[in-house]
Amino acid sequence: MSERPPTESDPTAPTPAVRPAYVDLAARLDLPTKVRLLTGETAFTLWGEESVGLAPMAFSDGPTGVRGLKFTGGEHVALLPNATLLAGSWSEEGAHEVGELLAEEAMRQHIHVVLGPTINLHRSPLGGRLFEQYSEDPLLSGRLAAAYVRGLQGKGIGACLKHLVANESETDRNFMNSVVSQKALRELYLLPFEIAVEEADPWSVMAAYNDVNGVAATEQDHVNNAVVKGEWGWTGLLMSDWFAAKTSAPAALGGLDLVMPGPVGPWGDALVADVESGAVAESVIDEHVCRLLRLADRVGALGTDRDWGTEHVAPDAPERAAQLRRLATDGMVVLKNRRDVLPLAADGSVALVGRAAVDTACMGGGSARVNPPYQVSVADGLRAVLGDRVVVVDGGPIRERPVPVTPDRATDPQSGAPGIRIELLDAAGAVLTSTHSAVGNTSVGWDDDLPRPVAAAVFSGAVAEGGPTRLGVIGTGDWTLSVDGVTVLDERLRTEGHDPGEGMLKPPSSTVELDLPTGAVVSAQVHVVSTEPRPGPDGSLGLISHIAASGMGDKGLSVEPVGPSEDEVLAAAVAAARTADVAVVVVGLTDEWETEALDKSTLALPGDQDALVAAVAAAARRTVVLVNAATPVLMPWAEDVDAIVVIGLPGQEGGHAVADALLGVREPTGRLVTSYPSADGAAPAWTVVPTDLQLTYDDGVFIGHRGYAAGLAPAPAFWFGEGLGYGSWDYLAAVVSGAPAGGATSPGPVGRGPVAPSVAVTLRNSSARPSREVVQVYLRPADPAEPVRLVGYAPADVEAGAETTVQVATDARLWRRWDEDANAWGQLPSGGELLLARGLGDIRLRLPLT
Ligand code: BGC
Repeated sequence: MSERPPTESDPTAPTPAVRPAYVDLAARLDLPTKVRLLTGETAFTLWGEESVGLAPMAFSDGPTGVRGLKFTGGEHVALLPNATLLAGSWSEEGAHEVGELLAEEAMRQHIHVVLGPTINLHRSPLGGRLFEQYSEDPLLSGRLAAAYVRGLQGKGIGACLKHLVANESETDRNFMNSVVSQKALRELYLLPFEIAVEEADPWSVMAAYNDVNGVAATEQDHVNNAVVKGEWGWTGLLMSDWFAAKTSAPAALGGLDLVMPGPVGPWGDALVADVESGAVAESVIDEHVCRLLRLADRVGALGTDRDWGTEHVAPDAPERAAQLRRLATDGMVVLKNRRDVLPLAADGSVALVGRAAVDTACMGGGSARVNPPYQVSVADGLRAVLGDRVVVVDGGPIRERPVPVTPDRATDPQSGAPGIRIELLDAAGAVLTSTHSAVGNTSVGWDDDLPRPVAAAVFSGAVAEGGPTRLGVIGTGDWTLSVDGVTVLDERLRTEGHDPGEGMLKPPSSTVELDLPTGAVVSAQVHVVSTEPRPGPDGSLGLISHIAASGMGDKGLSVEPVGPSEDEVLAAAVAAARTADVAVVVVGLTDEWETEALDKSTLALPGDQDALVAAVAAAARRTVVLVNAATPVLMPWAEDVDAIVVIGLPGQEGGHAVADALLGVREPTGRLVTSYPSADGAAPAWTVVPTDLQLTYDDGVFIGHRGYAAGLAPAPAFWFGEGLGYGSWDYLAAVVSGAPAGGATSPGPVGRGPVAPSVAVTLRNSSARPSREVVQVYLRPADPAEPVRLVGYAPADVEAGAETTVQVATDARLWRRWDEDANAWGQLPSGGELLLARGLGDIRLRLPLT
């Protein structure tokens, strides 16, 4: 086996002289031992094997923070801005910093591999997981991913690119087949993986749940073996998404190295038998084991005791807070700023309106969620700087499902501390654990590491403030909810779908409204019930069906005050808006929509948020809308308001970061990473619902701005790349160099890729403040069958009134086209033009190519 020399991205790799020979190590193990190593030991850890010096490795989600080994209610960890917000700054330096930050969080928790970045593309704006993914654009996604991976791995923590491949939506994700042309696969969906592999050599990759062109991603010999491991020469470890591996021989032969999670899975004895029968050669097993050993070696889990360091930055340390605040502000996108209403005057008064102002969504849902030390709402962030010059009006409910009770709403009946008591019981009713909890839910059957299975759980809390209250129970099982010993709800809750994550990620719930006295003790008891496994939509009755039926999942108690009526909310908002210098309305989505395991069906804002904006805009002198969502929403009121800023899901420092942006303490320099459609359906790729489990990517290579520019959908409300910041820009000149005649690419120096043209762009910051521009270069190929595409970009910081020349290198990989007949890359034909644009809706210069 040939070994790479240590590289810059691999500083922990031993020198070749002391590098253990993985083949020799593998040869010391018998077949059952080797196979055992190839399935996880637990949900997030791997088996160790002392005889070869292999320590157990620990993996953790995910892109928004390093959650640790517990799914719910684990240790406090830093909550970062979400992926689209981070990507919004188009800054590879920022992505590198994020990778380093995550590595520090991983080291603090002794985690070897962080399960990120997520680099599937924003194909349809309905995708539930877009908040975790960077962009609709493969170049931006790939470059940011590469920088993130370098940041992580530079500190000896493994990255995991996910999910390979064509996993752009969530509906029926475990059973559906993405039907994608080779051209779209190569030019779009594989490209971010290719860029990250080429530039950063990630130590692991995760194979997706879905099938790709009829073959499971975990068995995709073509993608996994021929392209990624073969053509790209990638030497890392390919693990399955959780419960995605369904077979023994086909997966082992299809390039999958590791089945996750464990200890149960399709390999084990079945794979041993496959080797013994000759269906799988033992050399295939050895190859998987060698890749596992290489990963262990890279993360310090082979033959050494990893030094995790002793000095760690706490997730709530001031320096961490400052860093998270800066990263969040940088990615926020100013979409509209009429009459320079922003930045706000520091001495004005503000009417701050909206549920998302007081209950700001700081993160998305699913496996990306973490347990942060705190989350600063927009209201708290603005109050911290404006004091009583800000009047806050809650905007009324925008969630459909109840949320687990928070410590301000209940106290533990036993200790009196804010929060609740959670007891886990065995089948005989004996208490296995009784703990105080600041979070109102727990993941039964997944996080518990107990001698006997959990058969029931009791959640109890004393209501902190009486009045009309909505009590709720969350999770599958047979529930009894009582108040001061009197039963008020008795209900059986079951999941309806087939996703093994459903009980965890979108648990069923039930609520009841009561007028309660302060101190009333609420107690919710659930019996964990497994049901008959339901066959999947493809008729299969595999491990996934059994997990979906197991009763495992998130369970908890909800205690929420019943708020004022919609009319009362509107009246209060209008009254506040009339008297303030400026009204700021915060609208958005929550983790019910921006989450794993489900997709959206509309881009309309939930609840009465549109009516709220319209009422406030009609009453206020000036109206600013903040969009607290990671992904596109419809803004029917866009013409009626003065300013719009997308604040994404801004992480634990969200409110402070928003205050910095609004008051101009720091410029929100973001540019959209995805186009915002003007209406539901008005996008080049829309549906995410497979037909007969087939989801055909019939938009080909024309997703996002590529499709809008080709006229495949009405122009978007806001284009990919759009974003005003607080500067204003004159594009004075642009000169192309390095392009051979015809504007195509030329072969590069031996051993390196081809060289693509570079563009020198001269621009002036015509505003009165220093500002950052993101110079974007698009290529419009001569052949109309080829889409317009982003080929290069570069951020530039420019002083007020100053001129600068920015050199933008275009990327040779974007000047290729996949030739389906030859089954190989070719070059685009000569001609076409380069466009210097602030999003394709605002083209500033055109450079014809001959
Ligand atoms: C997600 C992965 C995640 C894994 C482990 C899966 O449901 O798709 O992205 O890393 O769970 O939590």
